[in-house]
Amino acid sequence: MPNRIIKESVNESSGLAITSPFAQDLFKRLITYADDYGRFNSHPEIMRARLYPLELDAVTVQDVEAGLIELVGVEKVRLYENKGRPGVFGYFPGWDEHQRVRHTRARCPEPGTGDEVNDWALQRFVPMLLRRRIFERDKFKCQECGISHKMPGVPLAEAQRALSSVFHIDHIVPVLQGGRATEENLRLLCRRCNAKRPKTFDWSTGTAVPRSAASCGELPPESNPIRIQSESNPIPKAADAAMANELPAALLDRIPEMKSWPSPEALVALWNDIARKAGLPLVTTLSASRRDNANRMLRQFKDWQFWTASLSRIPFSQFLTGRVAPTNGHSKPFRADFDWICAKKDGVENIVKLHDGKYDEGER
Ligand SMILES: [Zn+2]
Repeated sequence: MPNRIIKESVNESSGLAITSPFAQDLFKRLITYADDYGRFNSHPEIMRARLYPLELDAVTVQDVEAGLIELVGVEKVRLYENKGRPGVFGYFPGWDEHQRVRHTRARCPEPGTGDEVNDWALQRFVPMLLRRRIFERDKFKCQECGISHKMPGVPLAEAQRALSSVFHIDHIVPVLQGGRATEENLRLLCRRCNAKRPKTFDWSTGTAVPRSAASCGELPPESNPIRIQSESNPIPKAADAAMANELPAALLDRIPEMKSWPSPEALVALWNDIARKAGLPLVTTLSASRRDNANRMLRQFKDWQFWTASLSRIPFSQFLTGRVAPTNGHSKPFRADFDWICAKKDGVENIVKLHDGKYDEGER
């Protein structure tokens, strides 16, 4: 693991000072997570698994996503895409001024001109003082379910800092429908109510996802995503519905076991669906060790959309589907199976490598 330098000046960073304690902590963890070039895979599922391995029960993907938005908002981190690799990446501007060690190969592609995709996060960034006004106006009370967490007698700034992870700031009219981070368009939601709000960004494809307005929003929901999903996706219905962050009816009809997601049974059902298309071994029995492995993976990566996006790449991989000649004395070509997707090698889960496009085409 790399050792990184954190300078004293981090405590005097005016940018970080206007972010939440969670975002400040995320920033420091991110420094150790980035490769030697200050770049990292910014998929919140992967970040959560890597940065909070002992706190998977306490830190949600929404927490990580919100923290990332804050760091982009204060320009501590920038997001970019790469034509050759799927997904969205992040980098630290000015990394070279702070970190010297560079002895490994870059894990993430180099950001090029025109590759940056910060708009999604920037439009959702709510500066600290505005957040404070919303906390004060909404009286530390969820505007959906009415639950409140008050700290009587504690000064506003202190109470807001202490409760910054308890509440989320929600855009009433979604940004994609013209809603902006203004006092009128923001409201306080508790963690539970916010988690029910559909996701607005698909980190696997770098696609902004439209969501319908909250109950009081005036504008009609959009019907199409800003960018169309990859045409090579073999289960387009699932991918479309993923944008609404709910298991699609089409998938539930076809794979009834998916209803229990996240569970080893649902993961097996999803695997079998993909394996059938790719001509790979189906799982017929769920042994205790297989169940343990599946549970361990699902604790790290809970989002079914992450799994479908990653597994959907398998049929297109020459290597994983046994279409590459065997090497190193093996008599048969390698073929991926359920145990392989639940395994990790050299500290990186195979599902993450899949997500990152490592096995696309003929690569191995
Ligand atoms: Zn609530």
